[in-house]
Amino acid sequence: MLDVSLLTPPQRRVYEELFAVGAPRPPADDALARDARALLFARTAPVAALRRRGTPGLVLNKTALDALGCDGRYRDLRDAGFAWSPATVLGTLVHRGVELDHAGRRRAAASDVVAHAWRDFAAKGESAGRYLTTLRGVEADALRGEAAARIIEFRDCFPLVPATWNVRFELRLRVPLHRGALELRGTPDLVLGTGHPAQRRMLLIDFKTGQRSAKDRADVRFYALLSTLKYATAPFRVATYYLDEAEWDAEDVDAGTLEATVRLIADRALRAAELEWAPPPETALRLVAGVACRWCARAPACPARLAADAGYVAGKAA
Ligand code: SF4
Repeated sequence: MLDVSLLTPPQRRVYEELFAVGAPRPPADDALARDARALLFARTAPVAALRRRGTPGLVLNKTALDALGCDGRYRDLRDAGFAWSPATVLGTLVHRGVELDHAGRRRAAASDVVAHAWRDFAAKGESAGRYLTTLRGVEADALRGEAAARIIEFRDCFPLVPATWNVRFELRLRVPLHRGALELRGTPDLVLGTGHPAQRRMLLIDFKTGQRSAKDRADVRFYALLSTLKYATAPFRVATYYLDEAEWDAEDVDAGTLEATVRLIADRALRAAELEWAPPPETALRLVAGVACRWCARAPACPARLAADAGYVAGKAA
């Protein structure tokens, strides 16, 4: 247990309200995982039916699933791939720094933590590390400084979890289905608690360094589903923690959460399969303007985006 009197007010809120330390956990319920798996398997069966012989299966992570909110954005993502920028790599750097900071019990200076995370990425040859090695001078210094400031912020607002707790950062979750025709992958930033024979004790948290987005809830629900299928027990809660606000959005996981998530994921997986293996013509794409237009390369000429912009301007003028 933590000595709560040593926590800052925001840290205490996280400990008492988000972690809900001392509150009873829901009883284990095998039916949650069993029903979610059966529904997911049934609703994604058409994905396997569409797969062409000899082609690799679909691998969908949260980036791909988010992109599938619009056919055009999914094609854009597939064509261009994911591109790092100072803004996108900042979150990755901070998340690794938070992990290292936990391991070091927050004894090192934040700038040293960031420097270590930076070297760590570069040494491992991960794509984020390769991108970081291209940054130089003021651009690199600005990124290091911002990451260090975020870590100091995080220390101020999020409690240092006791070393005796079961803590996992960047936990890899993978759910293969239909003999590899479809694989779902996710990596929640922080998982507290472990499996238990009689209770649902896991809490999954995703950290966000930017603004809130409507997709954040769907992202953590996706992690809830993957975790449920992997461990055959559902987490008791999932949450998105917003570093800029020291606030969070949390949801207690139940059968309704999992069922809604399965339906959404299955619908998007089926659409991905159609776009990959039975591609419709450009004129038949379902284009849905939204927040993803901001980073979609199709935006300048996209009719849905242009119509949405025109509607917005007309609405403001009315
Ligand atoms: S600009 Fe927006 S609506 Fe058009 S394809 Fe991209 S994400 Fe979809």
